[in-house]
Amino acid sequence: MLSALEQYDPEIYELLRQEKALQSGTIRLIPSENYVSKAVMTATGSVMTNKYAEGYPGKRYYEGQQFTDLVESLAIARAKKVFKADHANVQPYSGSIANMAAYLALIQPGDTIMGLSLPNGGHLTHGWKVSATSKFFNSVSYDVDPNTGLLDYDKIADLAKKHKPKLLISGATAYSRTIDFAKFAEIAKSIGAFHVSDIAHISGLVVAGLHPSPVPHADVVSTTTHKTLRGPRGGMLLCKEEHQKNVDKAVFPGLQGGPHMHTITAVAVALAEADTPEFVAYAKQIIKNAKRLAAKLMEHGFNIVTGGTDNHLMLIDLRTKNVPGKKLAKALDRARIVSNYNTIPNDPAPPFNPSGLRIGTPAITTRGMKEDQMDLIAGFINKVAENIDNESVIEKVGQEVLMLCSHFPVPDHFIIPNNK
Ligand SMILES: *Cc1c(COP(=O)(O)O)cnc(C)c1O
Repeated sequence: MLSALEQYDPEIYELLRQEKALQSGTIRLIPSENYVSKAVMTATGSVMTNKYAEGYPGKRYYEGQQFTDLVESLAIARAKKVFKADHANVQPYSGSIANMAAYLALIQPGDTIMGLSLPNGGHLTHGWKVSATSKFFNSVSYDVDPNTGLLDYDKIADLAKKHKPKLLISGATAYSRTIDFAKFAEIAKSIGAFHVSDIAHISGLVVAGLHPSPVPHADVVSTTTHKTLRGPRGGMLLCKEEHQKNVDKAVFPGLQGGPHMHTITAVAVALAEADTPEFVAYAKQIIKNAKRLAAKLMEHGFNIVTGGTDNHLMLIDLRTKNVPGKKLAKALDRARIVSNYNTIPNDPAPPFNPSGLRIGTPAITTRGMKEDQMDLIAGFINKVAENIDNESVIEKVGQEVLMLCSHFPVPDHFIIPNNK
């Protein structure tokens, strides 16, 4: 497929070639990124990209849906199976749209929503100021405990009683500890609010049974498909039967037109992969690696928010190392280690130059890296942090990273056995 591109558009071909080299010659620690399998990549670039399929299987607005209907039905059935959900909608273009659809399915514009604030680890679409979710809804935020960095369920309950949101959001984009979805459900119930749970980051861990599932405790569960779930870029909604109609209507025709059938095809493939013992082993290793990386970084004198991690990511509070997040992220990038600077709870620094760094292990675990490599990576990060103004040291670390990468080639041909 790439050779056709090489002939027709050498300029774009060259950029893809370089992007591929970048992805293989760097240690990618952005916790929302991953590498998809050969099967998922193939489905993403398939003939389904040629299709229009507005509507749902069996109820389309165009003819020619003999196979799109079957593919989408398979994706739905597989999603219901792995998440143990009554209903699944696999059409959301992305996690952000999935969240908006979840809100529109349950409440009216102008109603109050309550989610974790962005600087404390929530997502933009949990009602943060600059997001449309705070313009169409009245938004109230809760924070984590400023001292421990942990969710404080009593405080959330108090705030919920005070503001009486119609919808309470659980889930986060930068929170390293297990989330008690039953507690969120209890708080929502106590004020007669709906509970939407956003597991965009952790859905792969949930499917593998390594993080408690919100499915029994939430009216609607939202997720991306491309983070720990390791599918194509997309979004998905799961819900109880009573909300099925409203959820489907909110996605189409509420927010979207034609579904991206090539993505839905690849989602179906990714869900089959997630339903294997190999995927469970992968998810277990993600967590083992994250715990080891956090422990080693702490040995090097880094302060990990909440003192460690239960999942695939961690937030580093860099104040003990006296280096700002952005400066370290940029220096690490020069050393071929890709991360993102991030606010930490109660961050004294401004959001465009915060005190933290967010890193995670899903992508490097897909490459086959294990505990020994985590020790090396923690050492690399420390070396860069301690030599932040020394370009020759940073360059040397970059060479060591390249060497490590060469031993763990990017698995662009990895195939998960089909257990059916
Ligand atoms: C990544 C993320 C999203 C948004 O996903 P996009 O696909 O980037 O729109 C929503 N919620 C949470 C918690 C996320 O981490």
